[in-house]
Amino acid sequence: MVDDENVPLVTHGPGSLMELIEQISARRIIEAGPPEDRGLAEALPFPFLALVGQQEMRTALVLALINPAVSGVLLVGPRGTGKTTAVRSLTDLLPLVQRSLCAYGCLPEDIETGGLDAVCPDCAQKYGAGQPLICL
Ligand SMILES: [Zn+2]
Repeated sequence: MVDDENVPLVTHGPGSLMELIEQISARRIIEAGPPEDRGLAEALPFPFLALVGQQEMRTALVLALINPAVSGVLLVGPRGTGKTTAVRSLTDLLPLVQRSLCAYGCLPEDIETGGLDAVCPDCAQKYGAGQPLICL
């Protein structure tokens, strides 16, 4: 029998696995109740951890997230097997990445490494005016 009082308290830093699990659990949808109609075509994605069955598919998707050398997963199956739901639910597991506001994909790092000639004229002007080139 395990004595709970003698188990050391494990703390989790920001971005820890426990924090991620809390963030993406099905509790988020259950506690939120029915989604409000925001006029959008899609609601929140189904939580990846709430998917049941399809173990091989889930394993393949997680492995593709962990190791980019996998380079992709091809999901094949009849309608209603959860292919699209599983892939959409992966957005909860992905880190937030800064993305360029420019159609050419200009980044502030490009300016730092290659100067103002490394980005398009619009972004060079924005950078000079102190406006952001990226967003989350
Ligand atoms: Zn640009």
